[in-house]
Amino acid sequence: MDNKEIWQSILAQVQLSVSPAIFATWFKSTNIISIKNGEAVVAVPNYLSKEWLEQKYRKQMIGFLREFDESIREVFFQVIQAPINTQHNKNKRLAPSATTGQLDFEEFKFNKETNLNPKYKFDGFIVGLHNELAHAAAKAVAEKPGDNYNPLFIYGGVGLGKTHLLQAIGNEVSDNFKNKKVRYIPMEKLTSEIIAAIREGKIENLRTKYLDTALFIVDDIQFISGKERTQDEFFYIFNTLYNKNLQIVLSSDKAPKAIPEISDRLRSRFEGGMIADVSLPDFETRVAILKIKCQQLKISFPDDIISFIASTVQSNIRELEGVLTKFIAHTKLKNLAPTTETCKEILSSFNPKRIINPKRIIRETVNFYDLKEKDVLSESRKKEIVKPRQIIMYLLRNELNASFPFIGRKIGNKDHTTVMHAYKKISSQIKEDESLQQEINILKQKIYNS
Ligand code: ADP
Ligand code: MG
Repeated sequence: MDNKEIWQSILAQVQLSVSPAIFATWFKSTNIISIKNGEAVVAVPNYLSKEWLEQKYRKQMIGFLREFDESIREVFFQVIQAPINTQHNKNKRLAPSATTGQLDFEEFKFNKETNLNPKYKFDGFIVGLHNELAHAAAKAVAEKPGDNYNPLFIYGGVGLGKTHLLQAIGNEVSDNFKNKKVRYIPMEKLTSEIIAAIREGKIENLRTKYLDTALFIVDDIQFISGKERTQDEFFYIFNTLYNKNLQIVLSSDKAPKAIPEISDRLRSRFEGGMIADVSLPDFETRVAILKIKCQQLKISFPDDIISFIASTVQSNIRELEGVLTKFIAHTKLKNLAPTTETCKEILSSFNPKRIINPKRIIRETVNFYDLKEKDVLSESRKKEIVKPRQIIMYLLRNELNASFPFIGRKIGNKDHTTVMHAYKKISSQIKEDESLQQEINILKQKIYNS
């Protein structure tokens, strides 16, 4: 395992323990320069990062590094400024430095014009019940930007594939329509651009920068909440693009209705096109995602390991990937055979609060439908009890991959054929009944976040 792989594995662990914003701000553009004589040197892009990491994360970093090399006693952060972006090094990896031989700044994989990361494509994006609608809408928009749904508004919790989908639309349009200008920007960045433009009296420049964008993608629009002046400016840009039939795609962690402190006129614009949510992937989809990630990493694991990871990490695809990376790194480093035992050991540090079990599914479902646990475990055939009972059976199967007899035992000693029937029934109903689908999605969020 080389230094680069070690660092990637450490970053994967960090990603599991800090918020996405902290990760993006302080860790994403770091890299390892060297490990020798018990000292690790880490490249950071600026002095602010250096100070911040030294003060807040030095100890934690040493801890992570020591997992790979016990001789490490200290970590130093060294500012390595990215070179000016000339035609020559555009889109190319940063040339390996003579002293380190291995710099590879993440940022350099981004296209500087569009701000897109080419790794996010439709190809490699797994479609399941949890993202079917969002995916279909994204595809439709990518085929005919400006023609189908405007704006397309995708919302859902952290790590569920919103950025991936947004960027996939951008990449596809960039590839297929060479003359269409595409821009991707996170709302936090757009906010600072707007504030700076206002302060410097250059708002016209900013407007011109965005006004001929055929596909304008703004990620995490919820950050506009409470920022009045930014909202006004965004409203202006939005309207101009919209009136020219140029495509707008937005993402948010909440539905437009639920974003606090935004003006009514902006909210109604957000609601004016297509709104699609992404929710939690079920077990089968989690397996499919892990498989495709393994394929991309050119690695293969026995099915029981994949199932084990998929059944343990349930709430977030980013974590699912993080655990997989961590597992790969550990087995490689320590030359361990990839067994479920090794996997269990590695996952033992995983926050157990997030791990759901049958008890939790039953408890949350019962609360959700305002029933008592003994009701669903009983033999009652009352409609208001039968449905939640069937939903519990469906969730036990889908989320935990539990066997039919096991589910039968958990739900008041029912026969496994009863369970199979319930599972089939809910599975087919959910495909036709959108409100049932939404109901179950909300329930799932409750189960995972309780
Ligand atoms: P969000 O923006 O919703 O927080 P991301 O788009 O950043 O989530 O997704 C987190 C990680 O999970 C990314 O690495 C992404 O590639 C991966 N991912 C999410 N959904 C899928 C999917 N359906 N298929 C494959 N990978 C996915
Ligand atoms: Mg995102």
